[in-house]
Amino acid sequence: MTLALKLAENHSVCLLEAGGLEYSEESQSLYKGEVTGEDYADLDTIRFRQFGGSSVAWGGTCRPLDARDFKKRPLVKYSGWPIQREDLEPYLAEARNILNANHGEKEACQQGERPEWLPPIDGYEEMKYWVSFPHVNVGIKYRDFVETNENVDTFFHANVTDIQLDDDLKTVNHFEVTDYNERKYQVRARNFIVAAGGIENPRILLNANKQIPSGIGNENDLVGRFFAEHPHHQLGEFILEDEPKAVKDKDMAAKREPYEPTGRYFRPEDSKLVEDKLLNHSLEFEAGGVSSRTAEDGLFKSTLRKLICTSDTVRDTAEALKGGAVTCNMVVDGYVTISAEQEPNYESQVRLSKKKDRFGLRQADLHWYHSKLDRKTVRDVAWFAAKKLATTHTGRVRLERWIREEDVRLPGPHANTASMVHGPQHMCSTRMADSPEEGVVDPNCRVFSTNNLYIGGSSVFSTAGFANPTLTIVQLALRLAEHLDGTLKT
Ligand SMILES: Cc1cc2nc3c(=O)[nH]c(=O)nc-3n(C[C@H](O)[C@H](O)[C@H](O)COP(=O)(O)OP(=O)(O)OC[C@H]3O[C@@H](n4cnc5c(N)ncnc54)[C@H](O)[C@@H]3O)c2cc1C
Repeated sequence: MTLALKLAENHSVCLLEAGGLEYSEESQSLYKGEVTGEDYADLDTIRFRQFGGSSVAWGGTCRPLDARDFKKRPLVKYSGWPIQREDLEPYLAEARNILNANHGEKEACQQGERPEWLPPIDGYEEMKYWVSFPHVNVGIKYRDFVETNENVDTFFHANVTDIQLDDDLKTVNHFEVTDYNERKYQVRARNFIVAAGGIENPRILLNANKQIPSGIGNENDLVGRFFAEHPHHQLGEFILEDEPKAVKDKDMAAKREPYEPTGRYFRPEDSKLVEDKLLNHSLEFEAGGVSSRTAEDGLFKSTLRKLICTSDTVRDTAEALKGGAVTCNMVVDGYVTISAEQEPNYESQVRLSKKKDRFGLRQADLHWYHSKLDRKTVRDVAWFAAKKLATTHTGRVRLERWIREEDVRLPGPHANTASMVHGPQHMCSTRMADSPEEGVVDPNCRVFSTNNLYIGGSSVFSTAGFANPTLTIVQLALRLAEHLDGTLKT
């Protein structure tokens, strides 16, 4: 949408949308696929195939990547981008406008009034996220634009099902488009952009294999490789020693505007990552629990809950008897969570399944992996946070059981725990690089082996960082539009 908005200022644009204006099963079912790596949600439940894409359901949390995410780090093999944060900085203000991410700068509670129930955390600095408000659904915000702009032709139910190259095998001649009545069309243009999300972008390139058997852009077997998510995990619950301050903060949180943060967010200093050998992450304290001391739970229920929830043995027995998890969040003052980056991992990939969709295209097979460093980062940060609260007499953290295991495995959505909150944010599967030996697109998002095929979206991220990706996606789209505008004028 960002590319259409910007390119339509000077050029004609043809926007091909696989879905319609609303959700439909016939479009959404084409997102079905296989999951053969780490535990993950069904692929047709974590993205939306309709006008507006996944923005119809996104959370609206925004933050640019850190400068260090763009750098090569000795600890992290394959880290770094061929561009730097400064290259995206000029597009930040416009990207924030597009996503309505202009709020969240100020605290509802005035500085100084907000109680300091957390001590300073060595090696970390407090930071903020911006929140989209009013919450943007791109399909609603820009519907008038696509309907009225003379330079934009939008086709709904237009599934891109193949990419045809000229005889040089470098220049895209046309996109083949199929509708739900199985009618086929050819769409020709000077430049083509695939912007169908971080799982679909590689799937479209890999399925376009009639002329080049390994798929377009896949000469070095890199399309779909390095797929990354954002491990978002609830690490534990905390109870504060000095409760009134936290209660006051929670009261304030309740009075905040919807776009203002309810938690305290910290990001590590560069030196902390180097010394402790960690991936980038944010450590978050959500003062959102309801204390049993303030909850109107009734004496019997609150006593029983406390009894169960303050002892692992009793909790295990209660859960075995109940046959499921016991809700313990009534006795906490909040939660400790992490949003982490994943190490770029060659083995973690979107590949093609043997199963085919209704158009005869092979479905996606998400073969996604956590590395040792991914797991170490989550575990070490959890223990650090717990020790910090204990040694400063701030409170006690009850770490999730899986973190206390010898060999920490990050739980997926099918684990019996409330602690897994992956993105869903699909990144790095057609990554940007300086050379075709290292990635799929060049620093201008052009597929290396082609003259006129570009990729939009988080699949071009070279390294994922911990920040939610959409603000960066929009920055990159603005930059790509500027690049294409320049090339089309010459
Ligand atoms: C529940 C949820 C919460 C999220 N919360 C956040 C958040 O708080 N912050 C954040 O930054 N990000 C969040 N995200 C991620 C965010 O939604 C994505 O980063 C963003 O939508 C990606 O935009 P995109 O345009 O690249 O892809 P998409 O939004 O996936 O759009 C892809 C478009 O391509 C179309 N399409 C697909 N295949 C084809 C085809 N073959 N032919 C033609 N068209 C096709 C689709 O219909 C869709 O319109 C969340 C996502 C989900 C699902």
